[in-house]
Amino acid sequence: MLYFRYRTLWRAFFQELGMDTVTSAPTDREILERGTALAIDEACLSLKIYLGHVAALVGKCDYILVPRVSNFGWHRSMCTRFEAMPDLTWNVFRESGQKFLSYDVDELMKRKEKTAFLDLGQTLGCPAKEVRRAYKAARKAEALQYKARVQKQEQLYKKEGLKILIAAHSYVIEDQYIGRAVTDYLKEAGVVPLRADLVDRDGAIKRSRELSPTCKWEISREILGGIVQHRGDVDGIILLSAFPCGPDAMVNELITRRVKGIPMLNLVLDSQTGTAGVETRLESFIDIIRLKEGKL
Ligand code: SF4
Repeated sequence: MLYFRYRTLWRAFFQELGMDTVTSAPTDREILERGTALAIDEACLSLKIYLGHVAALVGKCDYILVPRVSNFGWHRSMCTRFEAMPDLTWNVFRESGQKFLSYDVDELMKRKEKTAFLDLGQTLGCPAKEVRRAYKAARKAEALQYKARVQKQEQLYKKEGLKILIAAHSYVIEDQYIGRAVTDYLKEAGVVPLRADLVDRDGAIKRSRELSPTCKWEISREILGGIVQHRGDVDGIILLSAFPCGPDAMVNELITRRVKGIPMLNLVLDSQTGTAGVETRLESFIDIIRLKEGKL
């Protein structure tokens, strides 16, 4: 889940400290089924997939990193799943013999990311000076990588043809087994898929207030800000979420009510149906947009 947001930071940090990193293979049916068997029925699809990935890593490394990222300040919270993640994971895999590693970001409790990484490095026995240097280098690498991705995305808005903005969490849209099918289908249909979450994050947080001054979830606010910034540049919006997602249920309803004058499709993926039926709905959505624009 957070891997899609922090992969460069994590990899660079451990690399700077002379450690190797291992990642699980892209999601497939087996990973989803393993995770589904380990999770409670009420868990969201993303959490089920996550547990499947942890299961795939058990026994393959010295530690599995499971951070707790709670918030970045007032009205800047992560979904509660991210707060519970270390406790939940350790409990599910308590009999596996696997060792886990964590760090704790909770700015409301004065736990900034930098402090959290310093503790993480020292837990691994690295000198504080080395850890500070590694964190600084990793932060820089991540900032550069993210800036390049945003710039590349901005170029896509200038392309000719039908453009559709996808509003989704990165771990939904980028997941090989679930969200990737949506972008792949759009590309095959000659549509330019764009991402609401791939924007300058600070600017997006400020812009999100236009749609909701009270939304408290950090990633949802980035997505809202991305919609505010780019709704005029696209022909349609797809709200893509993993069932049952509490934040998305509220935020997507809010988007539907407050963003007017643009075709919108609400797609909810779950572990039973996965992407079945998605292509038909995407095909109809694209046809509706083309018909509306007189291009069909
Ligand atoms: S935001 Fe939604 S999809 Fe993400 S972890 Fe929370 S409930 Fe699951």
